[in-house]
Amino acid sequence: MLPLSRKFLKTVRNCCLALGVLVPAVVHAADGAPLDIGLTPGEQAYVERVASIRMCVDPDWIPFERINQQGRHEGIAADLVQLVASRVGLKVELYPVKTWEESLAASQGKHCQIMSFLNQTPARDKWLIFTQPIFSDPNIIVTREEHPFIGDLAGIKGESVALPRSTMVEERVRRDYPGLRVILTNSEDESIALVSTRQADMTIRSLMVAAYSIKKEGLFNLKIAGQIPEYTNRLRIGVLKDEPVLRDILDKGVGSISPQEREEISNRHVAIRVQPKPDYRTIWEIVAGAACLLLVAIYWNRKLSTLNRELVRLSVTDRLTGLFNRSKLDQTFDVEIHRALRFGHPFSVIMLDIDHFKQVNDQHGHQVGDQVLVDVARLLAARRRETDILGRWGGEEFMLICPHTDVSGACILAESLRQAFVANSFAKDLQLTASFGVSAFLSGDKATDIVGRADAALYRAKHLGRNRVEVQ
Ligand code: GH3
Ligand code: MG
Ligand code: MG
Repeated sequence: MLPLSRKFLKTVRNCCLALGVLVPAVVHAADGAPLDIGLTPGEQAYVERVASIRMCVDPDWIPFERINQQGRHEGIAADLVQLVASRVGLKVELYPVKTWEESLAASQGKHCQIMSFLNQTPARDKWLIFTQPIFSDPNIIVTREEHPFIGDLAGIKGESVALPRSTMVEERVRRDYPGLRVILTNSEDESIALVSTRQADMTIRSLMVAAYSIKKEGLFNLKIAGQIPEYTNRLRIGVLKDEPVLRDILDKGVGSISPQEREEISNRHVAIRVQPKPDYRTIWEIVAGAACLLLVAIYWNRKLSTLNRELVRLSVTDRLTGLFNRSKLDQTFDVEIHRALRFGHPFSVIMLDIDHFKQVNDQHGHQVGDQVLVDVARLLAARRRETDILGRWGGEEFMLICPHTDVSGACILAESLRQAFVANSFAKDLQLTASFGVSAFLSGDKATDIVGRADAALYRAKHLGRNRVEVQ
């Protein structure tokens, strides 16, 4: 991070504002091409009869959505809903509100048939039914720069978290993390400002909104300290319970949106467009303004790339052992299969499972069990070859994907790991063994085929007495 003082940053920001920059890109609704989305005759009749539906939205949740000064709905949700509406042949009218709570009340009072873009929660299930997710976005923990990395929020006691009232996150944080002190705010921006000004320790917000507002507001003392995978926002269209046909129609519209369309719409809104005013008074001002912008742009880019690197790292890492997680292993299979087909290189898989691991937990407790898993991860990491991809497949099972390695090479490696296991003592001086299943890529294999064979070999190793290597 660049060593910039607060005062300097403020000056930079003021000077940019003075030049009238930082205008968010205004995005117009994407037009949906006519598509046959398979409406039933009953649904088609509904569309023809109703023609137009009323929608409640969050008036202040940029970049997802807002009601702009002209009273128009804009943002990612606006474009997505318009695309759905045009696909199903319905017109959508906006129900004007000033706050999110007003919107919720209007929906409960049946003043609008749909809510544009919200998470499904038990509280909302009372009066709404939902389409499949129209957009997914992870929730992340935002703290000040000096806060240490947060692996698990459950371990944090007595810290304060600023959250907008009546949101899914507020509902769930109170339930899941009673050790945190919730400070209620009226908006996401207010929450993040409380963290930036040290009045709260953290806030939780969507990655999209965080990236947007950290960039837009220049909140340089903030960072992403962790993510809460189970809090991924799966945003859906909410429909009044007594309108199941409308929900089914919209669900088909949502299902017709392609990943590319979704990505194109979100890219339009998280980008910030710089619009200089044409009436600069002096050349000096132009030069100073350009220099300010350049500095800020460099700074934003650095900051965001650090945030993004950290997020990528978190998304591929197993929390306990620090090895790659299963989703990274799945991705690696795709890459290796592609490479094997393209270049004809062999590759192999070693799957291993600790023998009688349940007894470790039963006799020494779960914490010792966890420590053993960490020790195993270390042992494997120290002995694998640099090019091997090592990860935790799940529970007490680990996997090595060995590029450029045929089945006999993989067996030699597995055997040496088996011996290393026997020679090692783990936490509490425990002596443990592991069973190994090896398989090699065969032309025409999908990931499930090669993993299936390694799994079958591992099963045989268990069946034949454990502490051995089997191939299939
Ligand atoms: P086998 O030799 O047939 O593999 O026997 P096993 O006892 O190793 O296998 P089993 O599948 O019966 O039990 C696996 C155990 O691993 C049960 C589960 O509680 C434990 N386990 C899975 N994940 C974790 C973890 O993250 N930490 C701890 N401490 N234990 C775990
Ligand atoms: Mg086991
Ligand atoms: Mg197992």
